[in-house]
Amino acid sequence: MQVPPELQKVLDLTREQNRWRRTETINLIASENVMSPLAESVYMSDFMSRYAEGLPFKRYYQGTKYIDELEALTNQLLAEISKAKFADVRPIAGTIANAAVFRILGEPGDKALIAPVQAGSHVSHTKFGTLGALGIQHIEMPYDEENMNIDVDKAIKMIEEVKPKFIVLGGSLYLFPHPLKELEPHAHAVGAKIVYDAAHVYGLIVGGQWHNPLDEKADFLTASTHKTFPGPQGGVVLSNNEELFKKVQKTIFPWWVSNHHLHRIPATAVTSIEMKYFGREYASQIVKNSRALAEALAEEGFKVVGEHLEYTRSHQVAVDVRKQGGGAKCAKSLEDANIIVNKNLLPNDPPSAVNDPSGLRLGVQEMTRYGMKEDDMREIARLMRLVLIDGVNPSEVKRKVVEFRKNFLTVKYTFDVVPESPLKIPMLI
Ligand SMILES: *Cc1c(COP(=O)(O)O)cnc(C)c1O
Repeated sequence: MQVPPELQKVLDLTREQNRWRRTETINLIASENVMSPLAESVYMSDFMSRYAEGLPFKRYYQGTKYIDELEALTNQLLAEISKAKFADVRPIAGTIANAAVFRILGEPGDKALIAPVQAGSHVSHTKFGTLGALGIQHIEMPYDEENMNIDVDKAIKMIEEVKPKFIVLGGSLYLFPHPLKELEPHAHAVGAKIVYDAAHVYGLIVGGQWHNPLDEKADFLTASTHKTFPGPQGGVVLSNNEELFKKVQKTIFPWWVSNHHLHRIPATAVTSIEMKYFGREYASQIVKNSRALAEALAEEGFKVVGEHLEYTRSHQVAVDVRKQGGGAKCAKSLEDANIIVNKNLLPNDPPSAVNDPSGLRLGVQEMTRYGMKEDDMREIARLMRLVLIDGVNPSEVKRKVVEFRKNFLTVKYTFDVVPESPLKIPMLI
């Protein structure tokens, strides 16, 4: 039979996506990354078709002997590189990891304190997201505008007054670390547990460029495995508290997943090994690059958020683009030039501005993985200036972007072996 047109369409769209996003764009979406070819080669395996409900070596299915060993090893590797006692890789997303932990720490009607929206709290921490679905009430801790962070003194008062079941730290627009060390004794004094949501900064933690919340007595660390940690899309729960961890583990299956998408697991293991050996180098280049990008953008004439705090300590940079026409318009013009960013609410925006916020959020982790250094950040800032300040036609800038990207087509911070895909699936590009 001939290839039907709808099939051709699917193949074409997939190939075009690969070509465009893998070889022709500067990707600055802060929540994304790419796996190494090595991790991708084990991602495409028979595991993508299998079930393994339950815990390794205690499954409800036959045929699981290899995933049992792999999953136990992956959990061990994740715990090792995170300096945690326990890890569970089964949550299929960071949000699922949060849900599993929140549900054990609170009952419907209970209260949780979260970071203020201005300091980056994620929708899953709020009544609009996972906490709301669990019937747990969220109360935002007060914001300190000067430090662009949680107001420590007022938050301590709030913890003492509200006596929440737990507090959630960590964020999505996340430039500066939340004050875990300062809040921890006060939270634990009123019996509140601490969840540190490291979705964005997990790779920086593993690479030693961000404080490790477990060292500072957080009860749980939850994360996505695909943002600064450059693995397959997924989630993880980590903890040093055996009793609480076991409670969460008992509920991941059957409350939050039935099957947990097994092909993620060898790919997460490969990424963990890459981070064990190259994570320090990778994470330190990420934070150098984000600082370099922020400084270069400021020099080109952009209003970069947080100048008085040296802009950023993470992989992210936030830019106030009201003068250039607002977040929505700027993000679109940049996309026309093959520079991919997301529009983002800035700390002073009202929530109603979500469709046309003041800012752009940029993340350097993916381009760093392709080998970019500080000088390349300066080139990105110049390209952004051409589009957003000088008003050069985006299609003209796009040609420069495509040329520039040709120098960065290979994933670094990985091993020099690329086995063929276990299933011999041809690369689409
Ligand atoms: C991205 C993000 C999540 C959700 O992660 P998913 O893996 O997409 O479910 C959770 N918390 C924070 C702070 C995030 O930024």
